[in-house]
Amino acid sequence: MTHTTTELTFAVNPSDHPLAAAERERLLADPGFGKVFTDHMALATWSSGQGWHDAQVRAFGPLSLSPAAAVLHYAQEVFEGLKAYRHDDGSIWSFRPEANAQRLQRSCRRLALPELSVDDFVGSLKALVGIDQAWVPAAGTGETSLYLRPFMFASEAFLGVRPASVVTYAVIASPAGAYFSGGLKPVTLWISSNYARAGEGGTGAAKCGGNYASSLAGQLEGNQHGCDQAVFLDSATHSYIEELGGMNLFFVTRDGKLVTPELTGTILEGVTRSSILELAKELGLEPQERRIEIEEWKDSARSGEITEIFACGTAAVVTPVGELRWDGGSVDHRGDGPAIGEVTSTIRRGLLDIQYGRAEDTHGWLTRLA
Ligand SMILES: *Cc1c(COP(=O)(O)O)cnc(C)c1O
Repeated sequence: MTHTTTELTFAVNPSDHPLAAAERERLLADPGFGKVFTDHMALATWSSGQGWHDAQVRAFGPLSLSPAAAVLHYAQEVFEGLKAYRHDDGSIWSFRPEANAQRLQRSCRRLALPELSVDDFVGSLKALVGIDQAWVPAAGTGETSLYLRPFMFASEAFLGVRPASVVTYAVIASPAGAYFSGGLKPVTLWISSNYARAGEGGTGAAKCGGNYASSLAGQLEGNQHGCDQAVFLDSATHSYIEELGGMNLFFVTRDGKLVTPELTGTILEGVTRSSILELAKELGLEPQERRIEIEEWKDSARSGEITEIFACGTAAVVTPVGELRWDGGSVDHRGDGPAIGEVTSTIRRGLLDIQYGRAEDTHGWLTRLA
């Protein structure tokens, strides 16, 4: 059970140059996504001799890294993404951080990085959010939160190819406005048939930077065809739907099923995805994880068998999907129905209500951070 005990205490060294309150409030008024950072960051070091040590929270700032650091050459890196939500009484909570901790452990095993215990992971979030809690946007301002980005990388200065013997773990935090600043809008998707993001036996089920690097060309191809995002298919047959570059997909059928591609080893297991599968039953929907052919999407969208499609992930919560385009064609399952379907809206609202403390947390999904 050593992996579940707390080993680290994050020593807090407050920044000597925190942003003035007025300047912070100005940034919090319209933070966008991922471009404004708080005053502090959490750090810890692992070495093969000492294990995890030097856990601390200190001023946010550049890292000192050798140009020979292995991550810069061989991409031995994993990350997580979750949010801190302020409730009406001022308290700050996160949504299923233990699930993110366990997923980070699985990603670490795949990328041959050392594991961090669940308690140390949650401890690092509490230490950082504790000192930077003024950066968590006020309750009731809509869908704003403090986005937390834990990550781990090979910091050893060594060009030989083997798992690094020195590794850095860090957490940074970034206030985030509502993902859709102009209101919820359906996205148009592009079927990427030239590119795959993951292959059998590869790293598709791990949350690693390399998967994102390999998704960019497909994403760009989609943008060039006027689409917001690319849908990736399985790399072996190019016929089964996997997911977007950073979001899972769900299909609502006319007969009340909520279908999502099953986890085949090349799909990332989203925390939002598994939460929605649990919520589905409470909404009277029948959750179904199975393989879905891209031809089934095209045919059922045309026949009206599929009534709604949405993508999901921590950053954008639930995003309605509109048109699907590919080389030589397109289909829009919505016909003359509403731009955003009822099931999509209900699931989106249901998740947000739990996260922001507006609905009872009957699943025990919330963990208090500050
Ligand atoms: C992070 C991620 C998701 C969404 O996961 P959540 O835990 O719901 O945020 C989906 N697909 C990929 C490829 C991802 O990296």
